[in-house]
Amino acid sequence: MANLLDGKALAQKIRIQLQQEIQSLQAQAGRPPGLGVLMVGENPASSVYVRNKERACEQVGIASFGKHFPTNITQAELTEVIHSLNQNSEVDGILLQLPLPPHLNAIPLLYEISPDKDVDGLHPVNMGRLVRGEAGLRSCTPAGVMQLLREYEIEVTGKDVVVVGASILVGKPMALMLLEAESTVSITHIKTKDLAKLTCEAEILVVAAGYPKLITASHVKPGAVVVDVGINRLTDYEGRKRIVGDVDFEGVEPLVDYISPVPGGVGPMTVAMLLQNTLWSYKQRVGKNLE
Ligand code: NAD
Repeated sequence: MANLLDGKALAQKIRIQLQQEIQSLQAQAGRPPGLGVLMVGENPASSVYVRNKERACEQVGIASFGKHFPTNITQAELTEVIHSLNQNSEVDGILLQLPLPPHLNAIPLLYEISPDKDVDGLHPVNMGRLVRGEAGLRSCTPAGVMQLLREYEIEVTGKDVVVVGASILVGKPMALMLLEAESTVSITHIKTKDLAKLTCEAEILVVAAGYPKLITASHVKPGAVVVDVGINRLTDYEGRKRIVGDVDFEGVEPLVDYISPVPGGVGPMTVAMLLQNTLWSYKQRVGKNLE
């Protein structure tokens, strides 16, 4: 039976550490860290994510500067909101919840967020810092995967690692972080000719494709470590909704050494990394006051 990579438990542990650190820093800095989560419209999945993020902020003592806008907000108005949060000295992190309604163009908006407050790590400056191996704000989901592997003392250096999925949000930064840790990384995507041939070679397999049961028992090397990033919402015959990953958990779990569950694996780590990024950004900003 595989060991579970319990992201829920680790995220809770990180939150307690962050809460204690924030408490002591706040006394010296005179203000708490601040995070502005911007949401537009009524996407039900986004509403759940935003609520989780704001609740997590409250739990650790990060002040929320979030705003929820009606669907008809214009590109110019949203740009103006981002500019005002960039200027606000009590705000350390800004996150634009995606997807946006179709009349809004996300890319130019993401570029407007100051790279120093880009706690999602998606700004080209932060992506560039990652490529160059420089310190900076790192994309939350892959950073969460790296921390989960570290927690379970899973060595990545020198390992053969396969990342399934090549998005800018997960797959690409994931591959770069693994490369930085000196893994031998292969990255696969929808056009990959023989996915199983590659994944069967992986000592560590990270899956972020958005396709339920993409990875089955015939895709894994016995004894591998499998990290399932996928979040897929399914409705069964009786109308019950449930969340599954990209890995056929029942089929794969008996074969591997470690596997992350969905839910309770990478998802909670993403939120924990958002809080950690906000604290990192805050420390850069108030650092001078603490010396
Ligand atoms: P995306 O749609 O932007 O990218 C998917 C990637 O997977 C693409 O590169 C595509 O080429 C590749 N892909 C799709 N089908 C494939 C196949 N059959 N074989 C090989 N590669 C294939 O998605 P994303 O934003 O990267 O998200 C991926 C999944 O991770 C989704 O289920 C998403 O909900 C989930 N996700 C989870 C978290 C979290 O916190 N756990 C965070 C972000 C995304």
